[in-house]
Formats: sequence, structure tokens, C-alpha cells
Amino acid sequence: MARYTGPVCRLCRRERMKLFLKGDRCFKEKCAVERRNFPPGQHGTRRGRRTLGYGLQLREKQKVKRIYGVLESQFRNYFAEADRRKGITGENLLVQLERRLDNVVYSLGFAASRAQARQLIRHGHVQVDDRKVSIPSFQVKAGQAVAIKEASRKNPLIRSSVETARGRGVPDWLELNAENTTGRVLRLPVREDIKLPIQEQLIVELYSR
Ligand code: SF4
Repeated sequence: MARYTGPVCRLCRRERMKLFLKGDRCFKEKCAVERRNFPPGQHGTRRGRRTLGYGLQLREKQKVKRIYGVLESQFRNYFAEADRRKGITGENLLVQLERRLDNVVYSLGFAASRAQARQLIRHGHVQVDDRKVSIPSFQVKAGQAVAIKEASRKNPLIRSSVETARGRGVPDWLELNAENTTGRVLRLPVREDIKLPIQEQLIVELYSR
């Protein structure tokens, strides 16, 4: 599975906002967006550049892809599926991304970032309804239990993520038992559950050109 392996703080600086790709560091003063809040590259500090129309739509799409760690072809597949389903396309798109297993593992606090959650899943530390699932894009369903497998519960990396995430809270559609590193999908997420500053309509406009 292809994935982005370049510097991630650069992605946040390009979008000029925190995308929370590096775990604990994102909440500290060392965060690159706090220290250098201008786009990366030779012309990053140039003044008077306004993004309009196509540029704005493109930036919104890139931002969402980067937050969820999804590459272009997979993102297009999500969009095609969202368009095919009943309801509002933009909302369908975000709900599908939110239902990814790596996002659920991160939201429950078992990993410091979605990238780390993907690694935990790929390495077989995560179970859904007591069965190992090693596919980060797995779509969770209402009522399913998502847990760290028993043998991995004392893993220092996972313990430290759980401790750090305690103050972050858990979305309303999930339930967490931090002691046992287990969680449950209470219901499927809706648009109101997704607190990220995303204008999904811009993405729909981009792909409808
Ligand atoms: Fe983005 Fe986190 Fe790097 Fe800050 S520390 S720029 S939020 S990845």
C-alpha cells in the first residue's frame, strides 16, 4: 500500500493549520505551525497571494487527504462511493473517512496519530469483535467492539498514547474503556460529530468540474 513518507510538518505548514500528524509534539510549542506559520519553500513568505476558486477547492481536498492519511486514488474511490450513496455527497465522504479503523483507533486514544494507528493495525495489535483486523481502511459498523489485543495492552507506546489522550476526550459516537484499551462504536458518525474545520462542499465542487 503506497503511503506518503516525506516530512509531515511541511504538510501542516502548506495548509497553514495544524493537521495533528505527529502526536504529542502537535500540542507543544515545538509545533512547526506555531513557529513558522507560512507555507514551506523558497516563496513561502511572499506576501499578497490569495487563493481563490480552483486553488481553494484543491487546498481543501489536499487538507482532508492529509488529515486522514489517504492518497489520491483511494480518496477518489471514497468520493465515487459517497456520490453513489443517498444523501449529501460531501457528508457521505467525511463519514466514510471517519469510519476508517485507523481513525477509530486514533480517536479512542490507542495511538498518538492516525499514522501510528495504521502501524498498530498493520502489525496485528488491533481486534474488531475479538478478531484481528490488519486493514487500516476497514469500515467499522455500529455495535462493533474495537480493542487492542490482550497481549499488546502493556505495550509502552500504547499505554503512553492512552495516558496522553485522556484529556482529548472521545467523540460521542464512540465509547472508551481506557483501562482495558477497549472501545465500542455506539452508532455511525454524522457530520456534526466531525469537529475538524472542513468545507466539504469545496471538494464536491472540485470533483464536479
Ligand atoms: Fe503539524 Fe503536528 Fe508538525 Fe505541528 S507538530 S506542524 S500539528 S504535524
